[in-house]
Amino acid sequence: LPVTAALADLSAADLEAFLAKTRADLDAFKARGLKLDMTRGKPSPEQLVFAEGMLALPGNRDHTSEANEDARNYGNLQGLAETRKLFAGTMGAPAERVVVGGNASLAMMHDVIVWALLKGVPGSARPWSKEEEIVFLCPAPGYDRHFAICEEFGIRMIPVRLTGEGPDMDQVEELVRDPAVKGMWCVPKYSNPTAETYSDETVRRLAKMETAAPDFRLFWDNAYAVHHLTDAKAEILNILDECAAAGHPDRAFVFASTSKMTVAGAGLAFFASSEANVKWQQARAGKQTIGPDKLNQLRHVRFLKDEAGLAAHMDKHRGSLAPKFKAVTDALQARLGGLGAATWITPAGGYFVSVDLAPGAASRTVALAKEAGLALTPAGATYPYGKDPQDSNLRLAPSFPTLADVKVASEIIAVCMALACAEAEEA
Ligand code: PLP
Repeated sequence: LPVTAALADLSAADLEAFLAKTRADLDAFKARGLKLDMTRGKPSPEQLVFAEGMLALPGNRDHTSEANEDARNYGNLQGLAETRKLFAGTMGAPAERVVVGGNASLAMMHDVIVWALLKGVPGSARPWSKEEEIVFLCPAPGYDRHFAICEEFGIRMIPVRLTGEGPDMDQVEELVRDPAVKGMWCVPKYSNPTAETYSDETVRRLAKMETAAPDFRLFWDNAYAVHHLTDAKAEILNILDECAAAGHPDRAFVFASTSKMTVAGAGLAFFASSEANVKWQQARAGKQTIGPDKLNQLRHVRFLKDEAGLAAHMDKHRGSLAPKFKAVTDALQARLGGLGAATWITPAGGYFVSVDLAPGAASRTVALAKEAGLALTPAGATYPYGKDPQDSNLRLAPSFPTLADVKVASEIIAVCMALACAEAEEA
């Protein structure tokens, strides 16, 4: 159905006709008895194959590190020097200030928050849990599992608007004047789910701003650091350097992982920060484990070799992912392009397409898609407490299904969105 006018400009009769046609299109999908899933940003089986060769490594009695450690044995809490060196660029810190953890960066974030609550961080007057209230700023829409950690531990979340260049810094600078604000979630590159990348100005203001809490921390989750979908490879300013230059050397905790580089369930997670913060993290981590899985660290070094190897590996992912993202945005453009009821960013990286619809249309879209056999991330999931005040944002995750399935799913999504927006217009 070619869209000729914005929904808001249609006459009552034309809107009726549009609704009838769109409902008929949806019924045609329903009749196919499909079962599709676009809920989570999981690598596809095809992507996992890219790292198949890694699983046989190190192998052949290759278990000695450059420093002559036996990677099979206990020890080296911080991680092998060669692994830290390989990911130093990604983490934006010298290898001495990079820590390699287990397979999940989320676990490292979780532990850092628990330790902050129980012990405080460098610069804290007391453990965070001894404060009357702890508040985190949450650029929203954002990553639901970040918000779930806060909810788990009773940390109050304040949503912050996103501008397309990161969080609204006027709002952030105002909010951090409250000493209860101890932390802020940031996904600075190809953000989950809006795919936006923080501008230099945003990063500088985050580094420079005056916070009432002396132990305020940025939880800088650079989960999509090398996850490009186009040749325009986004770069962000180095937050650790900017914070140090602004006189706040301990402000940023940086996280990342190879979950979406090698294998999502058995990759490597990383933490990087100032010397004081790394020392603090290591003192806590040393009570938790005698040492990480160094065979996996060696396996990653043997397989990826160097930064060029990592970049070449990420190009394979791009080859698999980019057509799926194009299928989504093409379908959105074809169906919603002229309606004036939906906006989205065409992602240049990351794992998601975020769509903003007419108020109330997000949960309606999810319900309609379900009727057609398509599972979508629940409406509201991208907001603190699962509550999108406008019920307007949806996160689409096209990585896992096959390209053929993504194409069908995208058409269904676009039809459901068009219908939900038209219904909202009619109401
Ligand atoms: N951070 C962000 C922003 C994510 O989108 C994800 C996964 O979707 C994660 C962290 C999870 O990372 P990990 O697998 O290292 O726990």
